[in-house]
Amino acid sequence: MSNMNIDKIKEDFPIFKNNPTLVYLDSAATSQRPQQVIDAVNEFYTNYNANVHRGIYKISEEASEKFENVRTKVRDFISAKSEQEIIFTKNTTESINLVMRGWGEKNIKKGDKIVISIMEHHSNFVPWQQLAKQKGAKLEIIDINEEGELKESDFEKIKGAKLLAITHVSNVLGTLNNVNKLCKLAHDAGAKVLVDGAQSIPHMQIDASAIDCDFFAFSGHKMLGPTGVGILYGKEQVLEETDPFLYGGDMISEVHVEESKWNELPFKFESGTPPASSVIGLGAAIDYLGKLGMENIRKHEQIITQYALQKMTEINGVNIFGPKNPEKRAGVIAFTVNGVHPHDLASILDEYNVAIRSGHHCAMPLHERLALPASSRASFYIYNDKKDVDKLCDGIKEAKKIFKVD
Ligand code: PMP
Repeated sequence: MSNMNIDKIKEDFPIFKNNPTLVYLDSAATSQRPQQVIDAVNEFYTNYNANVHRGIYKISEEASEKFENVRTKVRDFISAKSEQEIIFTKNTTESINLVMRGWGEKNIKKGDKIVISIMEHHSNFVPWQQLAKQKGAKLEIIDINEEGELKESDFEKIKGAKLLAITHVSNVLGTLNNVNKLCKLAHDAGAKVLVDGAQSIPHMQIDASAIDCDFFAFSGHKMLGPTGVGILYGKEQVLEETDPFLYGGDMISEVHVEESKWNELPFKFESGTPPASSVIGLGAAIDYLGKLGMENIRKHEQIITQYALQKMTEINGVNIFGPKNPEKRAGVIAFTVNGVHPHDLASILDEYNVAIRSGHHCAMPLHERLALPASSRASFYIYNDKKDVDKLCDGIKEAKKIFKVD
């Protein structure tokens, strides 16, 4: 049994008060926000709204201090070594593009090898595909096996690579990749490693120093935080060797007519007015997650996932993708129902106020690999319980009836 009281947790989320029958199964796209996060954003605008790092008056100093406190919270949350390693971006996508522009364009040369996997989200696929084209580099792709796990024999491809860019958790298959092992392999081969942590950080304890990756990218909005803020963690040494990718105010230490000098880390990468209210909201989200405990969250989601896998498997004609063992996956389940198009299924479920995702989930290469035009996806978080899974299964059965499939 999980020791999380889901009914109590739900009370913190105003969306469930305002929409009591909502069964929200799309947290892999974006999570809901607790009142504590909404209050923190509100308090910023109500009491100390000012631009950060600029004014020398009281409210600007308060805003700057609270903003920088969140950087420390993020550092502790992911066990980074220092605040210099924590860069505020817009989202995971921008974090990855920062690495592609700032590190990749500088270091990847003609004939070099970049390795990714077939399960990458477009955010961690397209930047490397485009960089490879631009530089005349090779893009090699680690395939998956029948279980939807990375094919170990393809790890050979990492030999001789300059960069491995890999997701921690697949946003479709739910597969939890052994990034510690992959980092070791890549480092032994002399490659740098970027981990896309968008789908792992909301759901499990992350220790970036232990993973030993060079970069770790994630978004605030999938972990109870506001939209508009993401993080790029980078090892200090590697960030020193990375060029800025956006130029402008705040990221400089000196500007002259002929020349400019960059600010120190992490400010070198934070150009222009940052999303201060979102950062402050992210701080409240980290506090909220910290109180629940990431170990408890992981345990709870494993229980729900196991229950969902079992219940969904019992329904004739439901095909589930990704590992069957909940230890090897996170709470994301992609599936199809024979005879019911994923979009039709999502519409029918919506009539029962059950929100799931349908389509390619920004992972078209993976869908091509699985020979699927589209799939349905249910994803779980701290406010979901077994009743939600039951409603999902009832909706699937209803859809089968409507489409007259048994
Ligand atoms: N990577 C993965 C694995 C994701 O699931 C997502 C979001 N669906 C992203 C990257 C992109 O995140 P964002 O849209 O917040 O940049």
